[in-house]
Amino acid sequence: MKEQLELLWELQKIDLELRGIKEERDRYPKEMKKLDEKQKLEKEKMQKEKEKIELLEKERRQKEGHLSSEQDRIKKTEGRMFEVKTNKEYQALLTEIETIKETTSRTEEEILQVLDEIDELKKSLAKREKEVAVTLGKIESERKAIEERMAKGEVSWQKQLERRETLSKQLESHLFKLYNTLKEKRQGVGVVSVKRETCQGCFVNIPPQMYIEVQKNRTLVRCPNCNRILYWEEDGRKK
Ligand SMILES: [Zn+2]
Repeated sequence: MKEQLELLWELQKIDLELRGIKEERDRYPKEMKKLDEKQKLEKEKMQKEKEKIELLEKERRQKEGHLSSEQDRIKKTEGRMFEVKTNKEYQALLTEIETIKETTSRTEEEILQVLDEIDELKKSLAKREKEVAVTLGKIESERKAIEERMAKGEVSWQKQLERRETLSKQLESHLFKLYNTLKEKRQGVGVVSVKRETCQGCFVNIPPQMYIEVQKNRTLVRCPNCNRILYWEEDGRKK
């Protein structure tokens, strides 16, 4: 019986491990998707900042265009000064030039402001680019870690399945059946250990006499509360 109980205990551990691998397998696409989204978000944020700079550059070019046409106008008006005949006309031209010059200096100021803004944005973009690179690097290594875990899981899955097959053949068929039924009814756990007189499946105390029985691992003892098969893990053999 002792050997059978040990086999059952091992089988239970294999099944729990298989369950863990399966859960991870189910989680995998979701985790990957989350990482993809995170990556996309980071890239989008960068893209937006770049677009903002591009827009400002466009504005700057437009303003520079205005400036140069205003300067042309000043030159043309100045040229006309040699053609005027009366003082009144001359004064009128001077006023016109004055007015254009005012506009020009305003435009120049606006260009400086835009340049300042571009400068600031470029600085913060450079900073963000570094941060994003770090974040993207982290995402990439997370992805790799998940992939490695998955690959390991697949290898272990195969190994555990084979071991399970061998074990199930060594087990007495009525025990194997009982285990499977219990496992199905009790959230995947049919065999549990006992610690400090407590069933580790349902955490209810077991009677003292039963506790003594369990420690011998010689008979099939089942928890009076959850019905699971009880197993005594000997000290020193397990961590
Ligand atoms: Zn129990």
